[in-house]
Amino acid sequence: MILPKSNRLTPEQLNEVTAVVAEFGCKIQPIIGAVRTIYAIVGDERDELMINRLEGLSFIDRIDRIQSPFKLMDKRSDLASHRITIGGVTLGEELFVIAGACTIDPKNPNYFYETAAAVKEAGAHMIRGGVWKPRTNPYTFQGDVKSLDILMEAARRTGLPVDTEVMEEAHIKLALDAGVTCLQVGARNALNYSLLRAIGRAVAERETTVLLKRGMHMGPISEFISAAEYIAAFGNPNIILCPRGTAPTLDGYRNHPDESITPLLKEKTWAPVVVDPSHSVGKAVYVPACALAAVAYGADGLCIESHVSPSHGIGDDPKQSLTPDVLAETISQAKQLWALRHPVKTA
Ligand code: PEP
Ligand code: MN
Repeated sequence: MILPKSNRLTPEQLNEVTAVVAEFGCKIQPIIGAVRTIYAIVGDERDELMINRLEGLSFIDRIDRIQSPFKLMDKRSDLASHRITIGGVTLGEELFVIAGACTIDPKNPNYFYETAAAVKEAGAHMIRGGVWKPRTNPYTFQGDVKSLDILMEAARRTGLPVDTEVMEEAHIKLALDAGVTCLQVGARNALNYSLLRAIGRAVAERETTVLLKRGMHMGPISEFISAAEYIAAFGNPNIILCPRGTAPTLDGYRNHPDESITPLLKEKTWAPVVVDPSHSVGKAVYVPACALAAVAYGADGLCIESHVSPSHGIGDDPKQSLTPDVLAETISQAKQLWALRHPVKTA
């Protein structure tokens, strides 16, 4: 929809606009109001070049898009009925829980094996474990490819699918060849378009899911959905959106919890939303409340850091990992809340 600066376009201006849109196979339909006339673009108005050309005309105030720029991720797209199933659970049909350590310790694999067994017992459907870690300080532990074997051994022992973060293209092949079910894109890489493209391409042929974290500095919601659109556009529609807190505004929390984003996302996209309350707040004591708030806001699942002995963990585990008993209690309460929000429909 074209909104001119004046109340209506002059015949010359209308001719110019008509000529521009005709180059892109579109037409103009004036909508004449008592005071103001606006102009609908009839045809596919998503072409960026056409919009740029129109916005560049001095007599145009703005262009309001009616068609979504998300060809695949939009709620009204052909993919809207797509469902994601992991380890036998279809997202949206029951609360989906990912849990496990922030970081796998390659020197002490038993912590991870015990954690994996404990989070399964607590009710998790997928195990998370960091093999490669994005650390703020280059001198801190950066992860170790040996942890990939530990992750897969935990998958074998528990029979559960596993999730791990890939930070560069080389990690994608290593993780997929090892049998990782879900590739995680971290908050720091959520705007790394070459990585997003590579993931979309690499997983297109396989039954692989992508857990896309929301960047901590992301602004408009469209930025988050566009990142998902990259992965889908390059071949893989199995995308879960994962809000994980944005840059902090309150002293007590590691990040600003963004669990209230879920209803906004769901107005625009069909993609399931699994919230990460651990990174959102950054301290174990606040994680259960954030997890419940996320479910209250309509999340389809939770991704929670947990460790059998947090003080022996690496990375975020000492501060923000829940012990398995607190995890079990949190999952149980979250499931009750989820059931309240999803009453069983009787005929
Ligand atoms: C993580 O999941 O351990 C992690 C580093 O998350 P984020 O990318 O959200 O910071
Ligand atoms: Mn972490």
